[in-house]
Amino acid sequence: MSSHDLQPGPSSRPSEPVGALLRPRLLAPGPVETDPRTMLSLAQPQIHHRTPEARAIVQEARDRLRRLLGAPSWEVLIMTSSGTGAFETALLGLVPEGAPVLVASAGKFGERWGEMARAFGYVVSSVKKPWGESLDPQEVAAACGGMRALLITHSETSTGALHDLGAIARAAKQVNPELLIIVDAVTSYGVAELRPEEWDLDTVISGSQKAVAGPPGLGFVFLSPRAVSRLGGHTHRYYFDARKELASQQKGETAQTPAINLIASLSSSTERLLSVPLDVLWAEKARLNAALLAAGEALGCRPFASRPSPAVAALVPPEGISGKQVAGALASLGARAAAGQAPHQDDLFRISMMGYFDRYDALGAAGLLEDALVSLGAAVTRGAAVSRAWSVLSS
Ligand SMILES: *Cc1c(COP(=O)(O)O)cnc(C)c1O
Repeated sequence: MSSHDLQPGPSSRPSEPVGALLRPRLLAPGPVETDPRTMLSLAQPQIHHRTPEARAIVQEARDRLRRLLGAPSWEVLIMTSSGTGAFETALLGLVPEGAPVLVASAGKFGERWGEMARAFGYVVSSVKKPWGESLDPQEVAAACGGMRALLITHSETSTGALHDLGAIARAAKQVNPELLIIVDAVTSYGVAELRPEEWDLDTVISGSQKAVAGPPGLGFVFLSPRAVSRLGGHTHRYYFDARKELASQQKGETAQTPAINLIASLSSSTERLLSVPLDVLWAEKARLNAALLAAGEALGCRPFASRPSPAVAALVPPEGISGKQVAGALASLGARAAAGQAPHQDDLFRISMMGYFDRYDALGAAGLLEDALVSLGAAVTRGAAVSRAWSVLSS
């Protein structure tokens, strides 16, 4: 296949005949590619949610999700919503209206939790770092005095940065032992080292369409025993009511009609992730991501984040090429990646191995990236990206 075959066309598929034979790939940081068995598990006769069969499904899913968190003593709520709804459930369930909260952010998702907190009338203070940087534990801790809660994003998917959550939580609780730490772990759960008990976190949030690699539509709210004892929160809540949900879910039910088919699909989507110890899973995910970063560097890109998250390789393209162009060239090869998020849409592009992928898929992604950059006229040494990725994977 010569580089000539891979010129991006105006459509999302290449116009050359070979393009029709490429298979579509989901390399975006969510939603991600899903185990075909998980998709098939959705094709079952509809069951009713107030039945012993449904209760067994909900309890099994809750057990599996807790195992993937590595915190068996915690509670979990499965919400029929995206991850944002899970975050809203935690926030409203734990923080009374008008209370002061600290939002620590260095990118889009962190900023969103500030927007949400303002929308519900909390008194919001912020600690910010520029996009691509990681939060400084001492700086965050210094602002935690008098705060009811700290809202923080562990893996900032918009920049590809991972914050040192363990150090931040330790420093913050030293300053304010009463603080509730509410963590957006949407793209660190099941990917990055995350030790909720050891780090004394209170609430951890994720969703079905990131590392769990299921279809979108479920949000997860994990609650520490301390968080459970402090449930109460905002009076203006209804659907996203953590206390009401917990009472139902402890019995294997949900307060309203759940997406029971999606909940049932969690048993196959989590199977591969739970088949190895968590530290083995985290190490392999980190290796896949490091392979993509190395492939990008071999092609003249550089990492956007100073402390990369294993959930997503965020790369600055070579001079004269925009992140949007790289994402477009990948789309021409059938691969859905992501550019940056506003206002940084042109400054970077993002590729993720969070989905139903293994190390050999990472080699394929390195090859795709090489062809995409060749099609955009970048000066690259043929084979460099795959070769660098392979050496990272085999190290
Ligand atoms: C995807 C994502 C979210 C948003 O999740 P939704 O499921 O779209 O509501 C929140 N935080 C981070 C870090 C994410 O990557």
